[in-house]
Amino acid sequence: MQAVRFHEHGGPEVLKYEAAPDPKIAANEVLVKVKACALNHLDLWLRRGVSDWKLPLPHIVGSDISGEVAEVGSLVKRVKTGERVLLCPGISCGQCEACFKGLDSACRNYAVLGVFVDGGYADLVKAPEVNVIPIPGDLSFDEAAAVPLVYLTAWHMLFTRAQLRPGEDVLVIGAGSGVGSAAIQIAKAVSARVIATAGADWKLDKARALGADEVINHSRQVISAEVRRFTGKRGVDVIVEHVGAAVWEECFNSLATYGRLVTCGVTSGGEVKLNLQSLFGRQRSVMGSFMGGKAELLEALKLIARRKLKAVIDSAFPLREAAAAQRKMESREFFGKILLHP
Ligand SMILES: [Zn+2]
Repeated sequence: MQAVRFHEHGGPEVLKYEAAPDPKIAANEVLVKVKACALNHLDLWLRRGVSDWKLPLPHIVGSDISGEVAEVGSLVKRVKTGERVLLCPGISCGQCEACFKGLDSACRNYAVLGVFVDGGYADLVKAPEVNVIPIPGDLSFDEAAAVPLVYLTAWHMLFTRAQLRPGEDVLVIGAGSGVGSAAIQIAKAVSARVIATAGADWKLDKARALGADEVINHSRQVISAEVRRFTGKRGVDVIVEHVGAAVWEECFNSLATYGRLVTCGVTSGGEVKLNLQSLFGRQRSVMGSFMGGKAELLEALKLIARRKLKAVIDSAFPLREAAAAQRKMESREFFGKILLHP
């Protein structure tokens, strides 16, 4: 097969479009002919190298995949050759206490497609049968690839971690990101009031189109001051955050009493200061969130199939132009998911 691999860590130039061995499936696995693969920030981290993660090299990234089933292992019963499918990116053992509780990403053997196993920047990818989900309704391959990682992440953040209640005020940082564009829609689906931030006005227009009630341009406005204005000085109940250090203090100061700040990323750095007096005095919570469970993805897919939530697609590139696609993501000049087509 053809794939985009890197043999060493570095900039986008280390991505090579080249021939690679076809994946060999085990008895419980499925081989999928990739039709679309969406980029995530995770891909950039992995390409650059994460200090305490030792990746097998050469490596194929890509966690959000849709395609057609090309081959099934001898123990596979539910999935059929030729079926249109998307892949749940989180691979867990299915046999431990965390897995039984539906907390897949707490599984000791948790892996993510494209992280320690080869991913979807390729013609073919393999995955366990339990990760293979039929594409619901009339969703296109592009829409299906744009959904999994960001929707299961945003769902886990808002409902499982922050315990969002209908009608609460939610601040979504980085509306143009995949998680941001998903979180706006999910929060609106339960009648929350959504305040969204972005660094460019054209992105704020798109955030409004997705349902954001209020918007903040965080490159020229002070987030906490705008939040106080929008909420009558009260602050927001829930914050969905994935930027890290650059917005930390502004986010923390935007929380209402009993507010919950959920973070799932550190694109601007992970070291921050925390004022404990404001934490206990206002009874606030700061919580981390990492991926989510298969059940959460299935829940989100129900609303996506009914077009209550939609996949937000920025653009698509041929697989061989993966480096250009990643440069676009690094430039921040995008809104929603960037896709690759083998
Ligand atoms: Zn497990």
